[in-house]
Amino acid sequence: MPQPTKKIWMDGKFVAWEKANVHFLTHALHYGSGVFEGIRAYRTISGKYAIFRLKDHVRRMFHSAKTLEMSLTHNEHEICNAIIRTVRVNEKACAGADSIYIRPLVYYGYGKLGLDPTGAEVNIGIACWPWGAYLGDKAQKSGISATSSFLKRMYSTPEIAHAKITGHYSNSILAKHDAHRKGYDEAIMYDLHGRVAEGTGENIFIVKNGKLITPPAGSILLGITRDTLIKIARDFRIPVLVKFFGKRQLYNADEAFLCGTAAEITPIRETDDKKIGKSCPGRITELLRELYLDIVHGKIAKYENWLDYV
Ligand code: PMP
Repeated sequence: MPQPTKKIWMDGKFVAWEKANVHFLTHALHYGSGVFEGIRAYRTISGKYAIFRLKDHVRRMFHSAKTLEMSLTHNEHEICNAIIRTVRVNEKACAGADSIYIRPLVYYGYGKLGLDPTGAEVNIGIACWPWGAYLGDKAQKSGISATSSFLKRMYSTPEIAHAKITGHYSNSILAKHDAHRKGYDEAIMYDLHGRVAEGTGENIFIVKNGKLITPPAGSILLGITRDTLIKIARDFRIPVLVKFFGKRQLYNADEAFLCGTAAEITPIRETDDKKIGKSCPGRITELLRELYLDIVHGKIAKYENWLDYV
């Protein structure tokens, strides 16, 4: 359960956390017709919170909304401002937490049932609360165990696969639950051709002979953390290959890690009970993890343009 904060922004108004309810006949509740984002604000070395890559997240949410043919009543700039205001209003309730997780959601609301959403309202909400590392602080240092899921990463067309649509997550929910039941921390999902796609809510990288490899667009969410790491790695002259790889290459990798706004950079210690590499975290994983955490905490001036101070 997210730690309750004070207010949730709903369609232009702040509503008390405990009163932020929707009608039972909300379209998205029945058909998964919502699009959303997961964003983080970090307490920077200046003491102020800064939201990491806010405009990129909001741009992706609008792209996802366009994919679901939603017409929004607010523009990108207004939603960025609403997100900043939501963090401000709840900052005290977050009691100085290192990181605040922000969840905007656009959804087909009340007014129409049946698959064609024409006639349903398009609603927007934004909540935030203090949240630590999604896969655990310890996991970030010592790595996680993963298992290959028999459930495929949801796919119809690349365009639709790239949208962050709530209804896409049913396979991820099942895969994650199955992994936990079997005693693993996370599931690896494959595409329809049996190539590694991503985690249930994270992108994946492997390291082989000093090079980073990550699957290309198509059957994955084009993660903002993935994009950040590709850019940082190139700045630090670590070669990055964006190409498909299979299960064998994952097993034989020198290092592997998951990345995402919620999971940050989490090393994979073992997959399907096979240890990955010689030690965990590997050198490149650890370097990228430290750089990423320094950047989001405002410690590296070169990447300040990725931060929006609250
Ligand atoms: N893949 C999936 C399926 C996800 O849900 C997420 C989290 N949004 C990611 C990858 C990572 O994306 P990002 O780095 O933008 O958080």
